[in-house]
Amino acid sequence: MYTFGKTSMSKLKGVHEDLVSIMVEAISVSPVDFGISEGLRTKERQRELVREGKSQTMNSRHLTGHAVDIFIYKDKKAVWEFDEYIPVANLIKAIGSDKGITIEWGGDWETFKDAPHFQLSWNEYVEESKTPEEESESIGERPSDTEVPSEDS
Ligand SMILES: [Zn+2]
Repeated sequence: MYTFGKTSMSKLKGVHEDLVSIMVEAISVSPVDFGISEGLRTKERQRELVREGKSQTMNSRHLTGHAVDIFIYKDKKAVWEFDEYIPVANLIKAIGSDKGITIEWGGDWETFKDAPHFQLSWNEYVEESKTPEEESESIGERPSDTEVPSEDS
């Protein structure tokens, strides 16, 4: 069984407790090791990612602590192949659904697959995550976040 290291735990600070509890449970039963590469994100960082083309929205779930990015860790290095994320994503979604929580996986997005990305659903967590300021800053129509997994971060 695996557990999160100090870095992953620190990345979970400020993330919604429901999402944290799902991730902590997932790592304890996951057949492969994974870590958290990003949780809560500042507006400055989000602007930077949009500028760099790594995200297409200022309405990211990361800004409100409703999203995390993971990285799968195998043979002492992070792996980014899409297929590696499928079983872990299924596990995370199943743990969520046991708790009555819908987890949206970036790998399920049609236009822009984001395998490391997991977020609480907009439908179930809509009230607390949308502020008028964020809405006015939204760039695209799509409410979800669309970063490119970066191999060097
Ligand atoms: Zn993300």
